[in-house]
Amino acid sequence: MASLLEVKGLKAFYGQTQSLYDVGFDIPTGGITTLLGANGAGKTTTLRAICNMVRTDGTIRFDGKDIRGMATEEIVRQRIAHVPEGRGTFTTLTVDENLRIAAYTRKDKQGVKDELERVFAYFPRLKERIQQQAGTLSGGEQQMLAIARALMLKPRLMLLDEPSFGLAPLIVLEIFRILRRINEEEKVSILLVEQNAALALDLATHAYVLETGKVVMSGPSDVVKNDENVRKSYLGY
Ligand code: ATP
Repeated sequence: MASLLEVKGLKAFYGQTQSLYDVGFDIPTGGITTLLGANGAGKTTTLRAICNMVRTDGTIRFDGKDIRGMATEEIVRQRIAHVPEGRGTFTTLTVDENLRIAAYTRKDKQGVKDELERVFAYFPRLKERIQQQAGTLSGGEQQMLAIARALMLKPRLMLLDEPSFGLAPLIVLEIFRILRRINEEEKVSILLVEQNAALALDLATHAYVLETGKVVMSGPSDVVKNDENVRKSYLGY
């Protein structure tokens, strides 16, 4: 499989503090890649680095094109959609308004309507709550809204930061099933950052392990899953 995103020798800095030292990974076109690592390992920073939300050095290539340092809105135009930690939905706006914002650059009303229907096919719960304020949705529904909003951008690559965070196990399973469908049916490649390593490794085709700002292990997810250190440190057995 050809690489959609290639990251090499990535460094990231918050002011004088360096958070990433040498991060490298490849995201295959059409695959689901997960980044595992303990708290503070640099997973969130890696996603922020791809979106140019933190100062970086190194190489970030998307579909062969150097995107490092590109303005964030230009990165969105390349069809890279970021679903940040904490979801980032507009709590005082309705579900409908949150989704339409993602399509604000489009002039064709029918096109946007079709797009909404396509997205609601994955998230029927959101359709039922279309006029509800996002802030009054459950945590799981807010996470769904954040993913749905990213999907409105017709992404080629979706960057997901801890979609399971703070959610009940059944909702997490539902969200992960939807992510699998989105990957298969929309041909969206996914980069998934997760604390829940067991779930992430089940969903993913490839995995990378980050420790203190460096990649320490990588491979097909079933190989990573069976690694002794990964089992002890991240899977708890
Ligand atoms: P978590 O699961 O806790 O989000 P993570 O693997 O995503 O962990 P990051 O949030 O990327 O880790 O943090 C990597 C390092 O960068 C940590 O040492 C953290 O303290 C530092 N860091 C993160 N955000 C900032 C910031 N805004 N200013 C300064 N340092 C930061």
